[in-house]
Amino acid sequence: MPKTKKRGRIIIDREICKGCLLCVSVCPMELIKVSNDTNDKGYYPAEFMELNSEDPKCTGCCACATICPDIAIEVYRD
Ligand code: SF4
Ligand code: SF4
Repeated sequence: MPKTKKRGRIIIDREICKGCLLCVSVCPMELIKVSNDTNDKGYYPAEFMELNSEDPKCTGCCACATICPDIAIEVYRD
């Protein structure tokens, strides 16, 4: 049976995010960056860079969601 590539995607709740950027530092694929715009609380939230990617690299490893102190990240695996 052919090995299928693990695919994942995340959703970051930008209004819950406090911009600590721990998720940015742990993503092994470097898929999270700081947003250019502030949220309603005035923080620059984290942003997932693969929303419309043709060749997604997120593996759904959950490192970002696990380290987030504010539970602002949901991980989905396809
Ligand atoms: S689930 Fe893993 S690969 Fe995907 S964005 Fe989070 S840390 Fe990066
Ligand atoms: S770890 Fe959570 S609170 Fe910190 S920047 Fe990432 S999503 Fe925002």
